[in-house]
Amino acid sequence: MTESANPFESLQSQIDEAAAHLDVGQDVVERLKHPERVLETNLTIELDDGSLERFKAFRSQFNGDRGPYKGGIRYHPEVSRDEVKALSGWMVYKCATVDIPYGGGKGGIVVDPRAYSDAELERLTRAFAKELRPMIGEDRDIPAPDVNTGQREMNWIKDTYETLENTTAPGVITGKHLESGGSEGRVEATGRSTVLAAREAFEHLGKELEGATVAVQGYGNAGWIAAKLIDEMGSSVVAVSDSSGAVFAPDGLDPVAVKTHKNETGAVTGYPDAADELTNEELLTLDVDLLIPAALENAIDEDLARDVRADVISEAANGPITPAADGVLAETDVFVIPDILANAGGVTVSYFEWVQNRQRFYWTERKVNEELERIIVGAFDALTTTMDERGIDDPRTAAYVVAIQRVVDAYEQAGAWP
Ligand code: NAD
Repeated sequence: MTESANPFESLQSQIDEAAAHLDVGQDVVERLKHPERVLETNLTIELDDGSLERFKAFRSQFNGDRGPYKGGIRYHPEVSRDEVKALSGWMVYKCATVDIPYGGGKGGIVVDPRAYSDAELERLTRAFAKELRPMIGEDRDIPAPDVNTGQREMNWIKDTYETLENTTAPGVITGKHLESGGSEGRVEATGRSTVLAAREAFEHLGKELEGATVAVQGYGNAGWIAAKLIDEMGSSVVAVSDSSGAVFAPDGLDPVAVKTHKNETGAVTGYPDAADELTNEELLTLDVDLLIPAALENAIDEDLARDVRADVISEAANGPITPAADGVLAETDVFVIPDILANAGGVTVSYFEWVQNRQRFYWTERKVNEELERIIVGAFDALTTTMDERGIDDPRTAAYVVAIQRVVDAYEQAGAWP
């Protein structure tokens, strides 16, 4: 596979690679490699100046064998049919890795939201919700936020759906504001699963988390929460970064103080208690016990991977390591906790949000966190058991093996239907 592989082709080759370890027929594997359906639609809305503009939008429902389709909606100029298909497939395997009863979906609108007013974005979001209405629903397909969408867009989609259906159905979408049926603990969930998975990996490898050194790339929602929680567990966060660059302190940074500095100045750089400033590449190649990439896709490519000195990587971001870099890290025995497990806290607490919406009974933050911990620990156990039993060295392949087997089991147990 090349570094610039089409994301849909990357997904398909990951499925082939993992399926080779399983006793699954090629005909069944073929079924697992393609979406069940993809909506491609054109949304025409009125702009504030009275003119009309057309936007292309997609929703892919990849596989529903284990439950309703689940996955976010992103707004980005580079959204494409193949990207949405691939992202929906990864959601299938993420949900199966942590064993929550969902299939996978993903959607997007080809738009740069910064170029439009709030009123225009509301009209666009409601137009998309109207198109999606026949295919989504609390038991059918449950969207969520993704790149450039958040609680505001989720609330618009929920309101449009409920108005057109003449009902209340908060579980039609997750990632909502607390007052609109959101869940406690959702904002912290991705950072939390990233560090819980790291804690399990350290235990598996016989390494101490207490006093371990940690570097975090990206100081947004996922990265900052991961830094704060791992610091609370007794590790030493020696470096963090954002798009402005990295700050470094060999004796450890105070993650909360760095966050306050970033809130005040817009960047982690310039933090007064840092010993030094580094580039993002220098941060990624620091000699630390744990590296948490929590920024963008493809942050670690094949060349950079040769210089990585961390013992464990916990992937908070989606796809931060290119396929070729994965090969290099496997040769150097870096233990990589794959994104479909490490950052699955986000979709897991979205699942809790949906459960609470269906029951109209809301949990405490403590209960959310306890249930999340139970799920992540269980998923990590399944991963290491599979590595041991099947002689698989690479945790990513093992995660896909676990996930694909679960999807195949659900499909086969359901019986044949034309
Ligand atoms: P965010 O927008 O809150 O934060 C992203 C951070 O990355 C920012 O601090 C930004 O400055 C930094 N960044 C951007 N470019 C960078 C670069 N070149 N080098 C270093 N830092 C850079 O986003 P987030 O919600 O924290 O998401 C981060 C990653 O985690 C994404 O890959 C996302 O898909 C993944 N993820 C997030 C969630 C979630 O619930 N938030 C769930 C699953 C996966």
